[in-house]
Amino acid sequence: MTVYNFCAGPAMLPPEVMNKAQQEFLNWQNLGVSVMEMSHRSAPFLAMVKECEASLRRLMAISDEFDVLFMHGGGRGQFAAVPLNLHLDNAPGVYIENGIWSTGATQEGARFTTVEGINVRNDDNGQFDIKPVNQWLLPENASFIHYCPNETIDGIEIFDVPKHKTAPIVADMSSMILSREINVDDFDVIYAGAQKNIGPSGLCIVIIRKTLLAREGLPCPSILDYKIEAKQGSMYNTPPTFSWYLAAEVFKYLEANGGVQAMEVHNKNKAAILYDYIDGSDFYSNKVAKHCRSLMNVPFWLKDDNLNAEFLAQAAQNNLVALEGHRLVGGMRASIYNAMPIEGINALVSFMEKFAKEHS
Ligand code: PMP
Repeated sequence: MTVYNFCAGPAMLPPEVMNKAQQEFLNWQNLGVSVMEMSHRSAPFLAMVKECEASLRRLMAISDEFDVLFMHGGGRGQFAAVPLNLHLDNAPGVYIENGIWSTGATQEGARFTTVEGINVRNDDNGQFDIKPVNQWLLPENASFIHYCPNETIDGIEIFDVPKHKTAPIVADMSSMILSREINVDDFDVIYAGAQKNIGPSGLCIVIIRKTLLAREGLPCPSILDYKIEAKQGSMYNTPPTFSWYLAAEVFKYLEANGGVQAMEVHNKNKAAILYDYIDGSDFYSNKVAKHCRSLMNVPFWLKDDNLNAEFLAQAAQNNLVALEGHRLVGGMRASIYNAMPIEGINALVSFMEKFAKEHS
């Protein structure tokens, strides 16, 4: 029985990776112990970690100008780490607000520094829409510009990258990292909680321009301090070793399957099938303007909310699980990260067609 899991996160992982992890669960690299049961400072673990970083660097073409940190605390940990590490006196943290997560980052930032929120939503035409990036009014004076290229809950993705003369560009890529090609050099800090396109929760990847490590910032817990993490090889304290190992396996899998370039083609195909079906239906709708629709998270609404519970129950009977929309926006949401195969999308569309016919 194949179950298609549309959970927004922790999300499904490639079955090939899960099977390999299962095979070596009790006996990793013939050492007679699990990868979970050994020192993070042992030679085999350190070799794995080194290759994990090298693999991510190849996948994303990350140059030597950047450090890659493997941290704890997920995306929300970074909501605090960014202002704590990047704060400059007399310059606000500038936060682009385009949905629920970017607004959450602003609120957390305001606990530590002066923030300036810039609302770039433009919903006047009855759609969820975003102003073009070149129309964003960014102040000259800023400690950093923070934005979220993919709003996991709202289903909004921004494909252009903002630019600023002096301030570093910080991107919360939690729900789109490795889903399509990006130019890392356009950014100064990229962070992503692992539990969507990387591996299990517990790990957060931070890609940071080395020059930024010179910033003094604010007094910061050591565990969130980029300088300390960089100096200690992301082992200031015991890292989430199992998550790290699985991330390495996911990266290997991606490299063996055409890398990010291939993922982008695969993800665009999947999203097109689903959005085309929704747009052609008068039973379902998606409220996001076409140019900023997420490739990873597809929210949709039934024409009658009273049918939601039945839709979810019947979907589950058809092995299509975790389709309930986020409580803040309602409706449904299909999260279709890298690991979701095209067969999952086809199964979902067939089910949606059948359900619509039976309830029209
Ligand atoms: N940012 C984005 C874009 C997210 O989707 C999420 C979680 N879904 C977070 C931040 C928060 O991540 P975490 O739960 O790992 O703190």
